[in-house]
Amino acid sequence: MTTTDLHNPADGSHLATIALLDAEAVDDAVDRARTAQRAWARLAPVARGEGLRAFATVVRAHVEELAALEVANSGHPVGQARWEAGHVADVLTYYAAAPERLFGRQIPVAGGLDMTFAEPIGVVGVITPWNFPMTIASWGFAPALAAGNAVLLKPAEWTPLTTIRLGELAAEAGLPDGLLQVLPGKGSVVGERMVTHPGVGKVVFTGSTETGARVMAAAAPTVTNVTLELGGKSANVVFADSDLERAAATAPYGVFDNAGQDCCARSRILVEESAYERFMELLEPAVAGVRVGDPADDATEMGPLVSRPHWEKVASYVPDDAPVAFRGAAPDGPGNWFPPTVLTPSSRTDRAVVEEIFGPVVTVQRFRDEADAIALANATAYGLSGSIWTRDLSRALRVARAVEAGNLSVNSHSSVRYATPFGGFKQSGIGRELGPDAPFAFTETKNVFVHVDEDPAPEESA
Ligand code: NDP
Repeated sequence: MTTTDLHNPADGSHLATIALLDAEAVDDAVDRARTAQRAWARLAPVARGEGLRAFATVVRAHVEELAALEVANSGHPVGQARWEAGHVADVLTYYAAAPERLFGRQIPVAGGLDMTFAEPIGVVGVITPWNFPMTIASWGFAPALAAGNAVLLKPAEWTPLTTIRLGELAAEAGLPDGLLQVLPGKGSVVGERMVTHPGVGKVVFTGSTETGARVMAAAAPTVTNVTLELGGKSANVVFADSDLERAAATAPYGVFDNAGQDCCARSRILVEESAYERFMELLEPAVAGVRVGDPADDATEMGPLVSRPHWEKVASYVPDDAPVAFRGAAPDGPGNWFPPTVLTPSSRTDRAVVEEIFGPVVTVQRFRDEADAIALANATAYGLSGSIWTRDLSRALRVARAVEAGNLSVNSHSSVRYATPFGGFKQSGIGRELGPDAPFAFTETKNVFVHVDEDPAPEESA
């Protein structure tokens, strides 16, 4: 049996050895899921809702345990990890209301009655990345289950522990056997089999754009439906008329949360020329103030990077001659520590400006005017999120409409709320997760027409 060893990113210590499944195990899982799904879809909508609410209750009772696991496996600060576990319970609660709201439509047509049904797809594969294991898994499994599907869930190889535990908690909550199965394994083995298996009707993939494109190609021969949530290189656009103090104080948290391992990280700060010097004066102490350290400490705001190979990748963007404006602090010693780092490249096509670094490294660039800001914000193959700082409401709306990204926020860095849609333009993805419509992404629309005979003896109306 193939196994993988997990290490604590904060100190390098050995954490666990995990068995990795093979392609045959996926085939068996699909069979079990199909059986479970048929029974689940036959349940009354209210019963499916109750199942999800029970799952939410059990997750909420285990928030501390799940958070501790994420601290150890992923190096997330404990406060953030608690939020993530609570978010899973929130997402389940939100979608527990969905089975009773999967409305079809009645469409006026001649000769009868026409109606649509939102039918479950069947077995859904959810493939998650290592950066937010719990939350991203729940964005897939909660609405998919609500819509009457079974779910196979493949966590990333580096961070499977909380996902495995969520699978156990689903069983503890009474979800039917086989309905939600966690399949730890390699992307090239388990992930690929999930995508190519003809019994899997839809795949939700979150990860890099490169792998997402491979998943889409592998799904093509079986015409399998995909939702892709991919990378980002989001802009934080700061106009001179904004509350510069707030813009600078919050900018580090817009990019360094989760040590920058966040697809929504505002990793390109764009500042209007006339405010540039003042903004940088304010940004320096804000970056120095980010508390980097032991993720198990309640006061910690940023932990280590997830793994040594990932640390090497991030470090490659900060060579000795990199244009470093200033850096924050990070602990010495074992662990994948990397300080918050601010770069000021002179070129608009510098590698650090163009590529997704996925670490605590941000670039700051100047722009001339609104048109230049929009052009710069859009000068990327990605289009996931972004922030706009200004006191001019009209400008905020003009720029928000002009930036080619799925999630914009004005005078804040908010991206993810379970009640609102989330996803990317351009190479940041296809489809949307979360929000009220998410369960419909896990259904097929069926149209049924019922012929109605003409009344053979219509009464004259008075
Ligand atoms: P990867 O693309 O490397 O992996 C994502 C998942 O896909 C992992 O579970 C991986 O398994 C699996 N996988 C790898 N190869 C295949 C394959 N051929 N077929 C099917 N599955 C496969 O991404 P990372 O884990 O490195 O995550 C970081 C990336 O995710 C960043 O680019 C980030 O921007 C993006 N991301 C996007 C989000 C969004 O919502 N838009 C949110 C969060 C992250 P294994 O671990 O075994 O390699």
